[in-house]
Amino acid sequence: MPLFPLFFFEKVTPTPLKKVTLLHHTELAKFLGLGSLTPHELQSWLNGESRIPGDQRISTRYAGHQFGVWAGQLGDGRAISLGELITHKMGRQEIQVKGLGMTPFSRRGDGKAVLRSSLREYLCAEAMDALGIPTTRSLALMMGEGAVEREEIEFEATTTRVFPTQIRFGHFEMAFHFGKKSELQALVEYTRSQFFDGASIEEMLHAVMDKTARMIALWQSVGFCHGVMNTDNLSILGLTLDYGPFGFMEDFNPHHICNHSDREGRYAYSEQPRVGMWNLERLFVCFSDLVTRERLIALLETYPARFQTHLLGAYRKKLGLQEERPEDLGLIESLLEMLAESKFDYTFFFRSLSRYQAGRLESLAGFRDHYPESLESSSFLARWLTRYQERLILEGSVDSKRSAQMLGVNPKFVLRNPLAQEIIASTSAGKTEALSAWYQVLRSPFQEHPEVETWAGPLPPNLKNRILSCSS
Ligand code: AMP
Ligand code: MG
Repeated sequence: MPLFPLFFFEKVTPTPLKKVTLLHHTELAKFLGLGSLTPHELQSWLNGESRIPGDQRISTRYAGHQFGVWAGQLGDGRAISLGELITHKMGRQEIQVKGLGMTPFSRRGDGKAVLRSSLREYLCAEAMDALGIPTTRSLALMMGEGAVEREEIEFEATTTRVFPTQIRFGHFEMAFHFGKKSELQALVEYTRSQFFDGASIEEMLHAVMDKTARMIALWQSVGFCHGVMNTDNLSILGLTLDYGPFGFMEDFNPHHICNHSDREGRYAYSEQPRVGMWNLERLFVCFSDLVTRERLIALLETYPARFQTHLLGAYRKKLGLQEERPEDLGLIESLLEMLAESKFDYTFFFRSLSRYQAGRLESLAGFRDHYPESLESSSFLARWLTRYQERLILEGSVDSKRSAQMLGVNPKFVLRNPLAQEIIASTSAGKTEALSAWYQVLRSPFQEHPEVETWAGPLPPNLKNRILSCSS
């Protein structure tokens, strides 16, 4: 069966990487039933050099709003789907390689990807999955000897992604805004029947809204900034999709912008929830011939509450709170204000708080080593801890139990940009040890890994808070 209704894809011919090397592949090879292929066979299939029975080679047609502006047709300019696999462990999964050359949707691009951006996407998707955040997964990272021109000349590379479907908000926008009514209908039917258990259109839209709200709430809870939340980068399944200039928050700043092309901060950390709703509105517009305007508006208006429920749930877990109480919203808001004032390293703060023993500031001695004045009695943190402690007492929280639970939700390691850069540097130099080692760490981010303690943060000032360009 084709991966999409007809209008939405074109058959393509991949351009294999030259003298390709398989730098790394994940355990998904096994789960996807590709375990019987040798690494060389896997490499040659993913590089477009060989075929396996039933595979397909297609790129899809989508449109989108980029930075708030209608951008017209975009499409998979450098991504080629090799088809789908039906598996015992993971159900239906599509395999898509990014960087195998030009497609009918490449516009002015070269269809290539460089190692830097491929490795970032490859590792971050796997890291996000390990953090429990819905995302596309990664199968393989490959590098070739061909040169790719960006700000500098770089080596060509590909990352292979895996997902039940890549359908984006932009696929619906493509049909709707180009007046393709029957094609839109076909896409809606296909999406509903294949990926939403045959739900009605309204039920499906409700689910998309809820999944989007949940995904963004979880991003906020780990300090993740996506950087390019254009409608063509939003998955209908609420999966984190298209990792570009993303960043994990280091020193907490709600207005942090991770993408330096985003001059106005449209996609700043604090804007992400609102952008989620704006994007949903762009999606819902495409359903205006299928659902009444009143129903669409009513549905959209439930987004803020859904988002807040997911966000509260995520922060309650981060704070080790078992019960839901009305004062929790205030406690969490004051926590975020305190963090913004204090500019603590976001990940390190929550990891440290996971060892807090109520009323005993000495349990935060490791935190004080990095932030010497943070616990003085007049500090924002000390004042917030008093409030937290009162809340803990209300539910009779037991330190040891809470701590164990919090250490399982507050990661010690996230893919900080400077860390990604280190891994990229050594991998470009032909050494894959760091890549393999960090893959393991990022797949178990709640474990201690004392051998790489320094990367748990906070990082020294010369490394912190780097932002990245879009050039990928
Ligand atoms: P992105 O910012 O990566 O989400 O890409 C936005 C659009 O540009 C998508 O339609 C991509 O397929 C396309 N694109 C990005 N980079 C390239 C490239 N090197 N060659 C062709 N198309 C590209
Ligand atoms: Mg994209």
